[in-house]
Amino acid sequence: MRVDLDRYRVAPGGAPNLAGRATDDTQGLTKEADRDRVKSQTKANIERMDALQERLYAEGERSLLLVLQAMDGGGKDSTIRKVLSGLNPQGVRVWNFKAPTEKELAHDFLWRVHRRAPGAGYIGVFNRSHYEDVLVVRVKGLAPPETVERRYDHINHFEALLTDEGTRVVKVMIHVSKDYQRERMVQRLENPEKHWKFNPNDLKERARWDEYMEAFEIALARCSTEHAPWYVVPGEKRWFRDLVVSQLLLETLEEMDPQYPEPAFDPADFPPESIE
Ligand code: AMP
Ligand code: MG
Repeated sequence: MRVDLDRYRVAPGGAPNLAGRATDDTQGLTKEADRDRVKSQTKANIERMDALQERLYAEGERSLLLVLQAMDGGGKDSTIRKVLSGLNPQGVRVWNFKAPTEKELAHDFLWRVHRRAPGAGYIGVFNRSHYEDVLVVRVKGLAPPETVERRYDHINHFEALLTDEGTRVVKVMIHVSKDYQRERMVQRLENPEKHWKFNPNDLKERARWDEYMEAFEIALARCSTEHAPWYVVPGEKRWFRDLVVSQLLLETLEEMDPQYPEPAFDPADFPPESIE
């Protein structure tokens, strides 16, 4: 089963139209009739991804970077847990970007990001990313507007550099509604095991929901490119979200089509009986 990914892709130069996109879209699949089928398809996608990641590592030339952004409670952590577990942990590099340290702030905004880009053979995942530097930074005015304004071009150039040097960049915004975020926040407060995930400061960000949506709208409009497209993935039906993200990664790896390298020796020179 393959879903239509195109409908989530933000066409370069096009309007993301976040407000017009259903956050609970499932392309007609329902929990009652299709959930088991979807779950086994997701599992199959992950198994294929694992096999292709091994080839990517053996090839040793290229890498894949998934950039994940969402509002608080949008499901970045659970997407990573669901879609990346099942892959060889040795082949995956996940990095969480928190508020920059004093040292990081003493450098340009891409300094801390570039060093976490995956090396040849790896799948890298950014849980938050350089996009925070045009999202939270824009909304909260943490840098002058003219600085933020210049960053979109810097981001496009940076991602073009990664692409030119062998890294495929795929970007996903997990799209949820403000009501859904409220549910997640309430759950975090009601469940003692989730208290650690609740941050009273998140309420301040929530209060600026519309400003965040506007900042996302601008970032996606200006930074969805042919080489590094943005996808707006509906996040409220998590089984469907996992299917979409796993298929997106799988199709990207299939397109990359990594190849085992030619051995630098002739296997015929080493018959089994020659190995003591
Ligand atoms: P969490 O993902 O819940 O651990 O929260 C990480 C926090 O770091 C979020 O509130 C982000 O907005 C914040 N953050 C990440 N990158 C930046 C950045 N470049 N500038 C300011 N805040 C950031
Ligand atoms: Mg948080």
